[in-house]
Amino acid sequence: MDCIFCKIVAGEIPAYKIYEDDNVLAFLDITQGTKGHTLIIPKKHIRNVYDLDEDTIFNVFKVVPKICNALKKAFSPIGLNIINNNDQPLQSVFHFHVHLIPRYENDGVNLSTINNYEKFDQSYFETLKSEILNEM
Ligand code: AMP
Ligand code: ZN
Repeated sequence: MDCIFCKIVAGEIPAYKIYEDDNVLAFLDITQGTKGHTLIIPKKHIRNVYDLDEDTIFNVFKVVPKICNALKKAFSPIGLNIINNNDQPLQSVFHFHVHLIPRYENDGVNLSTINNYEKFDQSYFETLKSEILNEM
């Protein structure tokens, strides 16, 4: 399969691995959006969140605290974001991965969303809720 993260799992291309077990691999993101920017992936090829099974997401997220604590101790960030991108144009590598992004003063990263609260009334929120519940 032509998947760059499967190739990292298979050892066919190098990565700066910081954690590995039977199911999961964590390695430094090559772009280092911030100092310590890390990716955690399941070894199993899964395209993105829409294809995830419970065991796989459990295996991935159970190592998140350990790695986040190591990043915190190593680099003393002011905070840390956990990000996962799904589908184009957000997702560039179609092998599920979780970004751990330590944050620093004036690091230039902007992940804030717009606050639209004032634009909507209670019925809008009720409608959104039922539209989601209809699909569960
Ligand atoms: P996304 O936009 O969420 O799909 O992000 C994919 C991430 O994978 C990007 O942050 C890339 O920098 C990272 N990436 C791509 N190729 C490699 C690689 N060979 N080693 C480490 N990180 C990579
Ligand atoms: Zn893959």
